[in-house]
Amino acid sequence: MMLIALKDWPVAITALPSACEQPETALRGLLAHQLGLHTNEILSWRITQKSIDARRKGHPLLIYSVEAEVGAEPKNGGWQPVVPPPPAPNWEVPLELPARRTAPLHPVVVGTGPAGLCAAWVLARQGLRPLVLDCGGPGEERERDIAAFFQTRQLNPASNYLFGEGGAGTYSDGKLYTRIRDVRARAVLELFAAAGAPEEILYLKRPHIGSDILPCMVGNIRRRIETLGGVFRWHAEVTDIAVENQVCQGVVLRSGERIAAPAVIMGFGHSARPLLNNLRRAGVAHELKGFQTGCRIEHPQVLIDRNQYGLTARPACLGAAEYNLVSRVAADGGVPGVSTFCMCPGGEIVPATAVPGRLSTNGMSRYRRDGEFADSCLIMTWGPEAFANPEEAFALLDDLEARAFQAGGGDYTAPAQDAAAFLRGELRLSERGGSYRLGMKAARLDEMLPPAMTTALQTALRQFDRQCRGFVAEGRLVGVETHVSSPVRFLRSGGGLGSSLPGLYIVGEGAGYAGGIISAAVDGWRAAEAYLGV
Ligand SMILES: Cc1cc2nc3c(=O)[nH]c(=O)nc-3n(C[C@H](O)[C@H](O)[C@H](O)COP(=O)(O)OP(=O)(O)OC[C@H]3O[C@@H](n4cnc5c(N)ncnc54)[C@H](O)[C@@H]3O)c2cc1C
Repeated sequence: MMLIALKDWPVAITALPSACEQPETALRGLLAHQLGLHTNEILSWRITQKSIDARRKGHPLLIYSVEAEVGAEPKNGGWQPVVPPPPAPNWEVPLELPARRTAPLHPVVVGTGPAGLCAAWVLARQGLRPLVLDCGGPGEERERDIAAFFQTRQLNPASNYLFGEGGAGTYSDGKLYTRIRDVRARAVLELFAAAGAPEEILYLKRPHIGSDILPCMVGNIRRRIETLGGVFRWHAEVTDIAVENQVCQGVVLRSGERIAAPAVIMGFGHSARPLLNNLRRAGVAHELKGFQTGCRIEHPQVLIDRNQYGLTARPACLGAAEYNLVSRVAADGGVPGVSTFCMCPGGEIVPATAVPGRLSTNGMSRYRRDGEFADSCLIMTWGPEAFANPEEAFALLDDLEARAFQAGGGDYTAPAQDAAAFLRGELRLSERGGSYRLGMKAARLDEMLPPAMTTALQTALRQFDRQCRGFVAEGRLVGVETHVSSPVRFLRSGGGLGSSLPGLYIVGEGAGYAGGIISAAVDGWRAAEAYLGV
């Protein structure tokens, strides 16, 4: 018996049974054939990576890397022997750090988004029993609040698509790929899989979870932290920090209650603008940084499938197609570049807003990504030099959200415009439905957005239309997107993870160090480790 690896093995979809949604069921036989073995000589096998190569239109390939235990030496080439990996860490077992564990006070974690939750997880595993505070409620309650919002159009500022258990990513596409290179990214995926995310996130090149699985996964992580002695307090909005002798000694809640703590790890996300501004006023060192604003664009998913796969009908084994488009900055620097961001195949546009009277959109999808529409955000970056101070940057975001709310009619209906009309400067919204459940109203987005943004988006749309046929003719721009990233970054002291105030760690997107679920989770994880000194 030997353990072998086969890397980047292309499998033509025509080699798979038609209507086969789970091509892996046919893989053992194909693998045996590839290696020149009998099927019963493949003793066990697992996929270590899977991706789709759709560069040759009309002939998409599934690309697998696999490891297999084989009963005989393979006759065909392309494989390599493998040294068995060390056993995976056992996430159930707390790693105790006795000195910290016996401390009379428990560290406080603010926020249950990926950053806060992973920080709490690391602390709990070390036996520290963190106190986790969140302004929103637990998952089931959050779900009810969101359902009530759709019925009444009355927004609960503490419980919505941005706030509540699991943070901003709980109702999302749950994309888990990241550009950061940190071994903890793998540990986060393992934690998610152990808590109920599909196992395939451990090997897919572009894994995602989906909003039908995410809330349950987040709840399972919370229950594990509770089992290890962590405590969660809901409806606990933190408004400030308690500072004594120039050290952060705890937090202050909206109710006036002060909670003392030996350390505070804040993962409040970039939508918690009042708290973020209070920290700035308290003198926590920060700087202005670049940030993005954008506009969602929605298409029929079949259009994206046709363009990406080059097939008239998408085979079940491929899943809804994604895209990633980038327009370059004009040579004279006059027109900013635009890229597509947070693409949600088979997804739904949602009102991701936490302030009544403001509107910002975002996208989410379910695990199967089987919705009729595909959406993504066309984003443009504002450099820090465009603003004199953070107040000006936040004023731009506030203004855009207020305009979008008004343009939609003041009841969270989203303002929308056909992409072709956006290019021509016309008020037009075709009648072909859309995924945004609160409805869309025709609006002149080209006039509503800042001129620089309109020009950038128009230039990009013309280019994207050449790369993806029908991108303009069948595209519709929806609302405005302002919760892409924060204009503020809290500085870290001495190259470490702590803020300029001893005892205070600010992590994740709200700190300006993360841009997505995995990078936020890793940042929270690292801060907890830094506090523990591991
Ligand atoms: C609809 C949507 C879809 C997205 N899709 C994806 C995706 O597919 N993939 C991806 O990588 N990223 C996605 N993102 C971005 C991703 O969700 C964020 O990058 C990530 O959640 C940031 O994590 P965080 O922990 O820093 O903050 P958040 O997730 O924003 O969590 C902040 C937490 O702090 C709590 N909080 C806020 N203020 C206070 C306060 N004053 N007191 C107490 N608690 C407070 C909130 O309730 C929340 O639980 C999406 C975002 C949205 C809104």
